[in-house]
Amino acid sequence: PVKNTLPRRFVLPAVIQAEDFDFNYGFQLEDCSDTGGGKNTGFANNGDYLDYNISIPQEGEYIIRFRVASLYSNGSISIRLGDLSGTFTTIQSVNITGTGGWQTWTTQSHTITLPAGNYTLRFYSLSGEYNINWFEIALPADVNEVPGLRNFRIYPNPSEGYFYVEAEFHHNTT
Ligand code: CA
Repeated sequence: PVKNTLPRRFVLPAVIQAEDFDFNYGFQLEDCSDTGGGKNTGFANNGDYLDYNISIPQEGEYIIRFRVASLYSNGSISIRLGDLSGTFTTIQSVNITGTGGWQTWTTQSHTITLPAGNYTLRFYSLSGEYNINWFEIALPADVNEVPGLRNFRIYPNPSEGYFYVEAEFHHNTT
């Protein structure tokens, strides 16, 4: 038997437990009261960071959702990508809005543009305190978010395996 000692790499889209980091500088773990939460990261100090190995199959726009809890609204995270040479680039900074308690959980979403490739995803804490249970990086596939979508129909419904999708788009030229 050969044991795979390589670090785990998450292929996007993915839901990633905060505690499944590849490297943690400064955060502490605690029991999480959220449904299926396992552990959450907490006790953030400025300059703490969490690293996750990710693989981004396609360049483009994604939705990043943080499952967070915080008594305050002072949390700010710099989202960075590190390449194989260890050089990190800031992609975006996001703020964490207070949820009313350290174990009061809400999902907070942001749109993010990511390049294709294998990277170290780093959440670098700029300020404040916040707890993270998990985060998700998803494709922006929600039908409701398609710009200019006027009519949308799926039939037959219910379907026995095959179904048709009809959509009408409005092209806004202004
Ligand atoms: Ca968790």
